[in-house]
Amino acid sequence: MSLTRMMIYADNAATTALNPKALDAMMPFLKHAFGNASSTHEMGQIASQAITQARMTIARCLDCSPHEITFTSGGTESDNQAILSAAQIGHNTSKKHIITSAFEHHAVLNTVKKLEKDGFEVTLLDIPHDGVLRPEQVAECIRPTTCLVTIMTANNETGTIQPVAEIAHICRQNRVMFHTDAVQAVGHIPVDVRAQQIDMLSLSAHKFGGPKGIGVLYARKDIPLVSILEGGSQERGKRPGTENVPAIVGMAVALDEACKNREAAQNHLIPLRNRLTDAILSLPGAILNGDYDKRLPGHVNVCFEGGNSEAMLLLLNQKGICASAGSACTAGSMEPDHVLLALGRSPELAQTSLRLTLSEITTPEDIDAIIQAVTDSLTIIKNGRHFQP
Ligand code: PLP
Repeated sequence: MSLTRMMIYADNAATTALNPKALDAMMPFLKHAFGNASSTHEMGQIASQAITQARMTIARCLDCSPHEITFTSGGTESDNQAILSAAQIGHNTSKKHIITSAFEHHAVLNTVKKLEKDGFEVTLLDIPHDGVLRPEQVAECIRPTTCLVTIMTANNETGTIQPVAEIAHICRQNRVMFHTDAVQAVGHIPVDVRAQQIDMLSLSAHKFGGPKGIGVLYARKDIPLVSILEGGSQERGKRPGTENVPAIVGMAVALDEACKNREAAQNHLIPLRNRLTDAILSLPGAILNGDYDKRLPGHVNVCFEGGNSEAMLLLLNQKGICASAGSACTAGSMEPDHVLLALGRSPELAQTSLRLTLSEITTPEDIDAIIQAVTDSLTIIKNGRHFQP
């Protein structure tokens, strides 16, 4: 499929455009510098040095040691490995209780569900209506047998930012390991593993201008990570498999760029986001999902009473706007999203959601076009005209 017309891309929580500097940095490793980082010859050493450099850059951005960085295939794998590693420690010390929240990504929820089948006890924290957990909720649920608390830094559907530093502090005081899925947050809001007392953190490059299929699991140096793959000794045996050198290099450059430009991006995005939010909330039946302020700089998520996510997305797409809904399309039917249900939305209302996620290249004119398109589409839907051929 070719992009024959200019689209306005408002789906940056799904994935972001590759940063041109990241692409430039990757090109030599896709072309001539294609050596295997494990090879002892010069081509191998060039690849190996590029990985070392990338590891140092990422460690600087997160404020940790390069030895605490493990490269993975992305957020899903990092979440799996973090949770399974903590569970292994819990198993060895007869501490088999895990605390998480109802609106985590499935990479967390499904891993925890699997552990529940293996005999772990899981506490699923309820989500307050504003989409922001209270640290006390965690404190109240910690038991002597708790081996892990895993709470995301920012939610992928609502964009709401969680008080991870406070939660991590409670965990540290109680000697409980704290993992955060920071896939939506890294590169967009300040994340500092040392200052925030985070023990393990997952990130994914394609959410901040890096390539797809590459991510990081940060784990504090004294945490013994369990490899979830069998194979060679890459990544100190914690993650076997030939390293994806171009992707690792691209991820480091993209993260460095995102961190350097973060404040400027926030200053650009927050006024645009608020104008978009205000305009959409003035439409009939519009309800904001999550707190107005405590959310990612470019993130808007609303439901429309009497609306319809599927129709809205189709109509927006016809008008050249890429957006998404908090719903997964399964076998042709829209399943209400677990995040919106966790927030207390009814299944019917959850199926009317619209998620618009902006980036540094979103312009004020794009916002005007999105507002017009959403307004027109909602009118069509409410008049039932979207059912006509
Ligand atoms: N966690 C969150 C919060 C996400 O938004 C995503 C992707 O959308 C993931 C994990 C999975 O990341 P990846 O696509 O790199 O596997």
